[in-house]
Amino acid sequence: MTLANFKLDTDSDGIVLVTWDMPGKPMNVLDQTVMDELDAIVDHVVADAAIKGVVLTSGKDAFCTGADLTMMQSGAKQFADAVKARGQDAAMTEFVDQAGRASRVFRRIETSGKPWAAAINGVALGGGFEITLACHYRVIADSPKASVGLPEVKVGLFPGAGGTQRIPRLMATPDALQFLFKGESLKPARAKQMNLVHDVAPEGELVARAKAWIKGGGKPVAPWDEKNFKMPSGKIFSPFGMMIWPPANALYRKETYDNYPAVKAILKCVYEGLQLPIDQALKVESRYFAQIMRSKEAAAMIRSLFLSMGELNKGARRPKSEPRTNLKKIGVIGAGFMGAGIAYVTASAGAQVVLVDRDQAAADKGKAHSDALISSRVAKGRATEADKAALLGRIKASADYNDLKGCDLVVEAVFEDRGVKAETTKKAQGVLGPDVVFASNTSTLPITSLATEAQKPENFIGIHFFSPVDKMMLVEIIMGEKTGDRALATALDFVRLIKKTPIVVNDTRGFYANRCVGNYIREGHLMLMEGVPPAMIENVARMAGMPVGPLSLNDEVAIDLSWRVVQATKKDLGEQSIDPAQEKLIKTLVVDLERFGRKNGKGFYDYPQGGKKKLWPGLAGLAGKALDPDTIDVEELKQRFLVAQAVEAARTMAEGVVTDPREADVGSILGFGFAPFTGGTISYIDGLGVANFVSLCDTLVARHGDRFSPPALLREMAKSGETFYERFVGAKAA
Ligand code: NAD
Repeated sequence: MTLANFKLDTDSDGIVLVTWDMPGKPMNVLDQTVMDELDAIVDHVVADAAIKGVVLTSGKDAFCTGADLTMMQSGAKQFADAVKARGQDAAMTEFVDQAGRASRVFRRIETSGKPWAAAINGVALGGGFEITLACHYRVIADSPKASVGLPEVKVGLFPGAGGTQRIPRLMATPDALQFLFKGESLKPARAKQMNLVHDVAPEGELVARAKAWIKGGGKPVAPWDEKNFKMPSGKIFSPFGMMIWPPANALYRKETYDNYPAVKAILKCVYEGLQLPIDQALKVESRYFAQIMRSKEAAAMIRSLFLSMGELNKGARRPKSEPRTNLKKIGVIGAGFMGAGIAYVTASAGAQVVLVDRDQAAADKGKAHSDALISSRVAKGRATEADKAALLGRIKASADYNDLKGCDLVVEAVFEDRGVKAETTKKAQGVLGPDVVFASNTSTLPITSLATEAQKPENFIGIHFFSPVDKMMLVEIIMGEKTGDRALATALDFVRLIKKTPIVVNDTRGFYANRCVGNYIREGHLMLMEGVPPAMIENVARMAGMPVGPLSLNDEVAIDLSWRVVQATKKDLGEQSIDPAQEKLIKTLVVDLERFGRKNGKGFYDYPQGGKKKLWPGLAGLAGKALDPDTIDVEELKQRFLVAQAVEAARTMAEGVVTDPREADVGSILGFGFAPFTGGTISYIDGLGVANFVSLCDTLVARHGDRFSPPALLREMAKSGETFYERFVGAKAA
């Protein structure tokens, strides 16, 4: 037997140590060759009577991170090609067979008649964890590097290699459903507590412990293959089952609004599978898996949330000619809301931070934010007192610009005021000289104009964070007209250092994310003024796939800020640039009623002290009319929310503000939570088909006005039949 991916060592007790170590790959993944070799190993183990058992471990840092998602992304396309070549029936048989391949190999391990123990030395995710669930014993390293989880739902798939069957046979159904729905990774101690592994062992003793279990008479039978096995939550058709399933279905709907076919498939797999013996249950799972692998949601989510995000994180937009920078000390000027957050994420990444504000008290207040965040992590057991001391030790709070000496990059987050920003740039450059890259976190001022204050505009760039900085994973990098490659490379290296995902956009009012999300909020405002009940606006937005309703979101970012933006936009672009109904609403709330949002406890919602927020009862009165909810077309409201954002994203691409659909998609999901199941703003358009999208826009223009009007680029693409990914990335269908 020649194996490329596994190494076999049989000891004097007849125990084979199978070490998984794929050549030329940084991590083990499940692919066709691995499956073929696992089949061969099972044959070998079964055939050789001298073999007493098997220990499966990995030769890499991680145990295995799951299936090769690059392969899975093209499931729908592979299927369509097979249908063309061999007809529907043959293609379906092939596809279902292929979808069940890993599951069958794992079941062969489980029923081989020899005891298999998994020695999980690092991260075991997805199929990488499912293979260990088919082993009769699992021991995991007591190491911060080790964890287990089934994160497939995060990319529109589900654990289709036995996960949906073995998990609910290991723990109570509600816990199993939570674990499968959420896709979270668990650290060793928690995995043990949840009955997912049998033992946690010091790293060095892992293999020995696994072998000891085999030598101690480890039984080669899974619990569910024992004669009198009982499901942890009993039968589905039982009084207890009836207490689980109706709420489970309701919870599924509440969490997904039926937008995620993979989550529904989990529910079906568990519900149907628990009524069957394991072998049939696994077949049911494979059939659903074949269906989900062909879903457009899986294709779009894998592309945006795994492949594109990975490419952007690895520096897809970094100028190749620029040598890697070595960013050790970062200056942050302005220790307010944003600057304090930027200082925290930078120090958390291990860099030194000089946090400068107008006076020492303001700078100290900014540093106190880091103290609060890390202290809360310590309290939750996620960091130690030593981590806290080290992190705070890396932040120097100061009112003296001279302390910026030696900084490799400066990020400015002072007031949104041209004069203050100009003064800051001058003062910092007075200390550092013109060659250190200077970045502004401005949200509205054009980078090109701010750069005129810099001695060398090529070293000036925008690094636009989202709030709260420690939670939001997107950073927009904004290129001014004169921004050079070195500034771009430095900004991208910085974003990589703090482990966030960058998109690179060209300079324009609102850049990318705020333009799209501004349209989302405006749609909510206009619906309110049309007389749509406020609760309906908020609920339908979530039904469309948005994480929070537009009115809630506006309360978070502050309505008085919206009022300032409305005024500035009118000043710069003219009266017609603002919808009068929207202006009337915001003016009434801010100027007449002083309802600024969460920050002063009253906005679209009321925020009672210590209580839950509630929609302000006065809202409905602002419109002067109220529509009967039964007469409102919910589908159209959903479309308005998504189309308003997607058409703006298309405009940014038509204008060359965003140049790559991958950035528009990833930016929309990470920046403002655009319905992730669509794959993002641009994938939403490609998924509908550009021609269909254009005709939807035209319908909405006729009913609601020009704000839905598609740019010429979309009409041209609708005619030519091109998708954004074909035109801008050169990729064939999702
Ligand atoms: P903020 O008012 O909370 O903080 C600004 C800080 O700058 C204050 O601490 C102030 O004392 C300090 N400051 C003012 N003049 C200074 C000077 N000359 N030298 C040093 N420090 C000075 O404001 P913020 O919300 O943190 O916004 C800061 C910047 O970030 C703005 O450009 C804003 O547009 C941008 N931004 C804000 C958000 C947001 O959600 N708040 C999001 C993205 C970008």
